[in-house]
Amino acid sequence: MDRYAVIGNPIGHSKSPLIHRLFAEQTGEQLTYEALLAPLDDFAGCLRAFLLEGRGVNVTVPFKEQAWVLVDQHSKAAHRAGAVNTIMRLEDGTLLGDNTDGKGLVRDIQANAGFPLAGLKVLLLGAGGAARGVIQPLLDAGPKHLCVVNRTVSKAEELAALFVDQGPISASGFDWIEESVDLIINATSASLGGEVPDISPKLIRPGHTLCYDMMYASEATPFNRWAAEHGAARCMDGLGMLVEQAAEAFLLWRGVRPDTAPVLAALRG
Ligand code: NDP
Repeated sequence: MDRYAVIGNPIGHSKSPLIHRLFAEQTGEQLTYEALLAPLDDFAGCLRAFLLEGRGVNVTVPFKEQAWVLVDQHSKAAHRAGAVNTIMRLEDGTLLGDNTDGKGLVRDIQANAGFPLAGLKVLLLGAGGAARGVIQPLLDAGPKHLCVVNRTVSKAEELAALFVDQGPISASGFDWIEESVDLIINATSASLGGEVPDISPKLIRPGHTLCYDMMYASEATPFNRWAAEHGAARCMDGLGMLVEQAAEAFLLWRGVRPDTAPVLAALRG
């Protein structure tokens, strides 16, 4: 049996073992997938020990940036993201690092929600690791414009500057823009504290704008409640992104992409 794992701290809440078990059952792939709690001061040791036998790992909070440093090769997405969420051990022992978060987000919006990004005006709220991880795939999808909007404006400016050669991107503070957009993605951690980023409701064009919160919960997130109150055409949470990024990792490791719809339905159930 080929072994895989997700490594993080904390890790008890992780849905990844269930997701990959369902993928393996569906595709008939022979593998095991476990959750590993790495000590905060020894992610590298935990990773190396597992990969003596293991074929690959997913990496989650707070180790994605450390994983970037530890792998031997980076995919373009990982290179641009400055973070690695998927590692594959090649036959010669080389560690390949990828970042599938952004591909998962784009797939959830385009394929699952049927909302093509080409030509759209998009706002990305937040300038932390989650925001950085999704910018390259968002730009690759061909939006008319992508604006990184953050409470601390300097961080948005620094982040946008990393991608200026990749597509139409700019930076802004929360109170700088009031014109409505097609898509708002919340990549802040505000929802975790029950808060909503302090942006104008005028950014939502009632009945038109799609609002996407990268956080997921059993109930509507604070951002999605706010968006619905202001007339968003549709509100999505990040569970689809989680399943889609897992499917991208499974594809990298096993060469087969599972059907995500039944897995997402099982998780929602
Ligand atoms: P970071 O800590 O790196 O960044 C946090 C960001 O949120 C910063 O831009 C910060 O702004 C902003 N922020 C925090 N609190 C507030 C607030 N009250 N109002 C406005 N802005 C705020 O976090 P991450 O980027 O790692 O994670 C962000 C979110 O993305 C989390 O909720 C995480 O769960 C989610 N996520 C979901 C994934 C999925 O698969 N669905 C994958 C990865 C992440 P400032 O710079 O001003 O402090």
